[in-house]
Amino acid sequence: MTIQWFPGHMTRARRQIQEKLKLIDVVIELIDARLPLSSRNPMIDEILQGKPRLIIMNKADLADAAVTREWQNYFKEQGHTAFPVDASTGTGVKDIPGQLKLLLKEKIDKQIAKGMNPRAIRALIVGIPNVGKSTLINRLAGRSIAATGDRPGVTKGQQWIKVGGEIELLDTPGILWPKFEDQNVGYKLAVTGAIKEEILNAEDIAFFAVKYLVGYYWDAFRERFELDENTPHNPDDSDEIVAIMEAVGRKRGCLVSGGRVDLEKASRTLLRELRAGKMGRFSLESPY
Ligand code: GDP
Repeated sequence: MTIQWFPGHMTRARRQIQEKLKLIDVVIELIDARLPLSSRNPMIDEILQGKPRLIIMNKADLADAAVTREWQNYFKEQGHTAFPVDASTGTGVKDIPGQLKLLLKEKIDKQIAKGMNPRAIRALIVGIPNVGKSTLINRLAGRSIAATGDRPGVTKGQQWIKVGGEIELLDTPGILWPKFEDQNVGYKLAVTGAIKEEILNAEDIAFFAVKYLVGYYWDAFRERFELDENTPHNPDDSDEIVAIMEAVGRKRGCLVSGGRVDLEKASRTLLRELRAGKMGRFSLESPY
């Protein structure tokens, strides 16, 4: 489900997260491993006001593993702990409690030194729509709690979910808006399905995707869509990119009368397959 973000929504989303920050010790910032920067909220540092933070690169099952490792190093250089997770199957999820404890170790050690009995670590998941917040909450809880597709502004009673013995997680995530200012960011988000085709045109999104993928993942792309290896595929040649989109359309039977390719239908089909991981794993941006 797509949220149309207006200034009022942003203000309310921000206020809601800042209210929740008062209740918690640590934030789990969820980003998409295929586009770690483009899937971050542009004001995240300001909004979190220095709260300790663990960065989770979700949907790592769909991303290029080598590029994800580069991102992990990138975030480390920035002073953050970030690691890949696949919330849909649970891969990597079991490491989250230990990482949260590590992040708060100093604080916990101080409490112990003062003779206090450390209470459970309280955590909040934040991220842009469709990044997998509800899926991760359900995974951590070990049962179905969070309804997927929550909207900002729709509040229900908040509850703490116990995760193991030492972590408590707020059952409603903080929903933040994505970046809008850069058109390329919009396209990248749209390729992953974080922005729907009603907002950006399907043909433009598919064009962007094909241009990128034939540049970086030509063999995988060619194999998926059964293209001849001699197919011209210069990413900077628009005619060649459109010809590839048409070839994909013909392969998938997206035709209109007269045998011409229905480019819009071809684009939707292509995007659906990419999002479902049918071409294999790919990342849409790399840090270096
Ligand atoms: P939310 O809007 O952030 O709460 O996102 P959801 O939890 O509703 O997830 C959005 C979509 O992404 C759903 O179709 C999930 O099944 C899917 N999803 C979530 N996590 C993963 C993951 O790690 N890998 C894959 N392949 N899909 C995921």
